[in-house]
Amino acid sequence: MAHGFKNFSKENRCPICGGPDWCGIMPGKDGGELIVCQRDCMKTNLIGRDGEYYIYICDSRQAKASIYEESGQRRAKELQNQGKKISGFDYAKLQYRELIPVDIMEPLSNRELDKIYRGLLSELILEECHYHYLKGEGWTDELIRKHYICSFPVKDFERYQSRIYQKNPLRVQLAEKLVRKFGSLEGVPGAYLNKKGKWTFAGNPGILFPLYDADGNIYRLRIRLDQDDGYGKYHNFSSFKEDQEAAGQGYLKNYYKKGCQAGNNIGIYADAQDDMFLCYITEGEKKGILGENYLKNPVISVPGVNSYAKVLEGKPGHRPIDVMKQKGVHILIIAFDADKEKNMAVLKSQSCLAQALQKEGITVAVANWDISLGKGLDDLLVGGNRPTYELLG
Ligand SMILES: [Zn+2]
Repeated sequence: MAHGFKNFSKENRCPICGGPDWCGIMPGKDGGELIVCQRDCMKTNLIGRDGEYYIYICDSRQAKASIYEESGQRRAKELQNQGKKISGFDYAKLQYRELIPVDIMEPLSNRELDKIYRGLLSELILEECHYHYLKGEGWTDELIRKHYICSFPVKDFERYQSRIYQKNPLRVQLAEKLVRKFGSLEGVPGAYLNKKGKWTFAGNPGILFPLYDADGNIYRLRIRLDQDDGYGKYHNFSSFKEDQEAAGQGYLKNYYKKGCQAGNNIGIYADAQDDMFLCYITEGEKKGILGENYLKNPVISVPGVNSYAKVLEGKPGHRPIDVMKQKGVHILIIAFDADKEKNMAVLKSQSCLAQALQKEGITVAVANWDISLGKGLDDLLVGGNRPTYELLG
């Protein structure tokens, strides 16, 4: 192995595959550190298991490993190069980054979060503009109600500053109501203490979608932003941002006081009336909810096509795939977007998922449709069409 190679451990797992061993970190030729993942079969820019963005650099020469670089480090190097093109590993020197975590909050249990998030959603309404957007996407009033879809208000100071009128309460008022009901919002991704020591919520405004676990608990929320902030429209409802000052001193600290990281999670959309023999997997909560409603089969949403391995994560017997099998699921149908033929990342993700599931004894099929009928599963179904199926293996 290369000089200075350090293996990951159970405590510090590989951000690409989540493995505790085999993969590791090595210093870049001119500073910074690079991730060497031995299990990766994506070989594309992706969101790591820690929620960070990773840039695929190349294959390692000796082994069949993939080399990745965290995008923040990459950006910093580009800034130091002042627009000059970066080639290979010819980067300016950078600090070696290994941060010691300080006061990092763990999320509450799914059951506890279910109570608080249901409380939160019941205090909010769906603003007119969001309602019209969803109706235009084929949502019914019943479906909107069933999943407590509502709007997350703009930041309080922006509301004062720009005199924005919204029916929803201020964020501090919302938090105050929940604190009165539940005591504290510690361990609730999205919540944090502001400078005045009051609980409030982080993030930009948009539409909130619930993420259910296999037992039907709402354990996370996802938000569809009104405005793309450069990292896509869909975000985790989370209150975590790396404190830059602390990072400079070698510590991993949350910029949001008492804030909590949501991480990337799957959502399971199922109804008691559903036929459980077939289960779909798609990307995104909106497609998951609408898909279940049309297909009358359970639908699992993954936060990105690279995050499929989430269905195989957890304690043996309690992994989402185990629970779905216990509920009668025999066939899993992968239903990622129809542009997959042009998108190598999606194609690779699909075959990785299929291989992993077949090892679990699950029959795997892929849903196909012509892109002219709609890009996503939701577009296809709302248009009155159904996919065709292709068995794998
Ligand atoms: Zn790895």
